[in-house]
Amino acid sequence: MRGIFCVAIATLLATAALSSTIAPAAPDEGLVEYNTDTTNQLIYGNNQWSVSIKSANNTLVEKLTTSQKPNYLWIGCADSRVPPSTITGTTIGDIFVVRNIANVVDEHDLSMMSVIEYALLHLKVTHIIVAGHLNCGGIQSAINMTLENVNYLRPYLNTIEALTRNNPDHFPSSSSMSNSAAMLNKLTQFNVVRSLRIIKKTKVYQKALELNPNLKLEGWLYDVRTLWLNRFDDTHTSFEGVDFS
Ligand SMILES: [Zn+2]
Repeated sequence: MRGIFCVAIATLLATAALSSTIAPAAPDEGLVEYNTDTTNQLIYGNNQWSVSIKSANNTLVEKLTTSQKPNYLWIGCADSRVPPSTITGTTIGDIFVVRNIANVVDEHDLSMMSVIEYALLHLKVTHIIVAGHLNCGGIQSAINMTLENVNYLRPYLNTIEALTRNNPDHFPSSSSMSNSAAMLNKLTQFNVVRSLRIIKKTKVYQKALELNPNLKLEGWLYDVRTLWLNRFDDTHTSFEGVDFS
């Protein structure tokens, strides 16, 4: 009896070991079925996506198995409407990403700064993009300060809100525009520009610029209405192609 038990256990362990080496089956093989359960939807989506990308470019998948060499560092908002790879039509391995509330860059934010350091000095990306977006909930919350139970959010909101106090000509305190789309959009621009300026001052960026004088640092703005990205025009201190009215 004990021998049979041991054989059974050994068989189970062998099966488990074998199973762990088998890649998940494609959806059409019946392992994952779509239903309304949210998590299952994601697994189903992953199965669909993995099958399609392997069939389209398995060479890329194999190449990325051992290392990455992205050209871009994307500093963006965590907003679900602004997924970098999706809105730029890029694929795995193209963009190194860090996202937080309203794409705020702060030298005291270790998460943000460690990503910037790794991207610039180790991955040696050639482009840094700070991407804000219109109708940003972080920007709106910073102006209205009506969110309750704000703890970890507070430093991000305070940083954005300070932009309005430090630029009274652009953001009059008693303005009837305080909740207007125009003011929110202007603050979104200021917030991107602020992040660009912070990055420029860092030792990491200065070092990276020494190593690669062609390193690009750009501010972009994504319009959730049109789905278009717009570059910040440094010479005109505004974003091209965005209607801020
Ligand atoms: Zn946002």
